[in-house]
Amino acid sequence: MSLLQIAEPNQSAKPHEHKYALGIDLGTTRSMVAVVRSGKAALLETADAKTKDNLLPSVVYYGTANDTNAPIVGSEALSYFETDPVNTIISAKRFMGRSVKDIKFSHPYQLKSSETSADAMPSFVTGQGNVSPVEVSADILRTLKDRAQRALPDDSIQGAVITVPAYFDEAQRQATKDAAQLAGLKVLRLLNEPTAAAVAYGLDRAAGSSDEAQQERLFLIYDLGGGTFDVSLLKMNEGVFEVLATGGNSALGGDDMDRQIMGWLLKQANLNPKDLTAQQRTHIARQAEGFKQALTHRDRVDVSIDIADIEWSGTLTAVDLIQIVEPITRRTLATCEQVMRDAGVSIEQLDEIILVGGSTRMPVVQQAVEQFFNKTPLSHLNPDEVVALGAAQVADQLIKKDKSNNVLLLDVTPLSLGLETMGGLVEVVIPRNTPIPVAKKQTFTTYQDGQTGMVVHVVQGERDTVEHCRSLGRFELYGIPPMKAGLARIEVTFDIDANGQLSVSAFEATSGVKSDIKITPSYGLSDEQQEQLLRAGFENAAQDKLSRSLIEAKVEAEREVLALQSALQEFGALLSDTEVTDLQQAMSALSDSLNQVSSSLNAEPEQLQQLKADVEAKQAVLKPLSDTFAARIMDQSVKQSLAGTSTESW
Ligand code: ADP
Ligand code: MG
Repeated sequence: MSLLQIAEPNQSAKPHEHKYALGIDLGTTRSMVAVVRSGKAALLETADAKTKDNLLPSVVYYGTANDTNAPIVGSEALSYFETDPVNTIISAKRFMGRSVKDIKFSHPYQLKSSETSADAMPSFVTGQGNVSPVEVSADILRTLKDRAQRALPDDSIQGAVITVPAYFDEAQRQATKDAAQLAGLKVLRLLNEPTAAAVAYGLDRAAGSSDEAQQERLFLIYDLGGGTFDVSLLKMNEGVFEVLATGGNSALGGDDMDRQIMGWLLKQANLNPKDLTAQQRTHIARQAEGFKQALTHRDRVDVSIDIADIEWSGTLTAVDLIQIVEPITRRTLATCEQVMRDAGVSIEQLDEIILVGGSTRMPVVQQAVEQFFNKTPLSHLNPDEVVALGAAQVADQLIKKDKSNNVLLLDVTPLSLGLETMGGLVEVVIPRNTPIPVAKKQTFTTYQDGQTGMVVHVVQGERDTVEHCRSLGRFELYGIPPMKAGLARIEVTFDIDANGQLSVSAFEATSGVKSDIKITPSYGLSDEQQEQLLRAGFENAAQDKLSRSLIEAKVEAEREVLALQSALQEFGALLSDTEVTDLQQAMSALSDSLNQVSSSLNAEPEQLQQLKADVEAKQAVLKPLSDTFAARIMDQSVKQSLAGTSTESW
């Protein structure tokens, strides 16, 4: 008889075996994986034969130029970009969780809309078939996972922490998780990139070691990558990180510098960009990137252009570069200023500035930041790697369940989340900037007698009316027992988990009917749109207040008309014919005014005031008539109940 190997559940049969968790920075331009070994976080060798560095270009080639007919990932894929751009997917991250109507930036790809929903992500049409952005990300993640598996002992990887920009919405986060799942990676947590950078610099612990420990500390994370600029304000208080505010520009980064440098080169060489083919421009832009990177370590670099019968060579100096990229650094700093102003934070209040992203290695960027903030930014860790290093530390804490240094990495909701209520109004359930994870419950009721179903429509945004907010999804709750309007008690719960993912459930309390459906978020919301929604909320506050009061008056009046209609059916005989006619006339006059309200909700304030006055006037006419009617009904029911009492008592 053989012996069974016995181990406690959840415990390894080999107690001394090491367990690892990966920290993955899934970047727009480059991706990488880090892990904590012997207490120290470091990037894993991704053994890229060509670049010999540990950063994996976030590029996948799906063409047929090679014979393998399988996707090629990384720097080898990048080499196809000039010759076969349509099949070389770069910056897939920008397409994650976006619908066709969200994709406003230019790109060389042919997109195919989803057949199931207009809100779903489109696919790239490639030589190897249609591939969704999620699949592209999955191919990148799979490559990183394979390399990590080769570098670490067999079966030792417990999962991964994957970083996402702080402004990523539900759809974008879900798409990222889907990609990880497709790549066979267990996601321990999605982590905001700026928070990861702060962890890498040990800012979660630094405060705990001194007397100032209990004080709040503020950090600004300046992340200038290849195609995007992100700025985040983090607050650290008693071991808890909170994202106070985020901002940025999804079309500003190192690529723009390359284009500016290209413009400078063409001007020097007396070339008109219009005379060049797209391929030639791509070629020069890539050359420009090389010159730019060389200037990070040198004061001057020899430059040359050799295309279209024209040969030109010259010198590009660090001083030229300051001039060339000045418009870009200026815009990043203006964004920083805006974010601080929104959050009510001044430069003097900032405890640290952290530089993240490949472009912050440039001395010109470092100097501009230092000058603006009047403070030397933290940059001693490699700005390319900090996000992955921080993610690896959090991943390690999560698998060790390290209680001694259990950083609660709090984030906040970027936009308010709420429900549609009668009249197209938004009832906010979780306000903007609420720390997550969070769960909130709110009770709603039915509007009509005998109503047995209800649509729960979840929206995101700062405006008071649904049409000005973004629809996240809707579901239905059925099986509410028929009751008088207002008696049902429907509890709707909004739950946002630590990854920033939202689920909404509804429950009717008197009957116990439940519908804990998870909402499928409609895909897409760019940071510009998010910014727009936010700004719209501030700019339209007064107008919103007016339309809200008008809509509230309208909903109330409609409820009155409905109640009167059902009363007329039941008790109409209590009124004379003229009384019925008068009542019906007053009701239809009010209904007419109400219809007008519905079609003019976007009118000018004066007109809204006028509409409201009109509704109130019609209500004033109706009131005495409906009061008389109500009194009759009362009389009758009192008589009936008296009659009832008498029969019973006799
Ligand atoms: P992302 O987060 O968008 O993936 P990265 O943080 O990897 O981007 O940054 C990529 C950008 O950094 C590219 O524009 C690249 O040219 C630039 N970059 C990388 N190294 C250097 C360097 N040594 N000097 C200047 N720019 C650099
Ligand atoms: Mg990045």
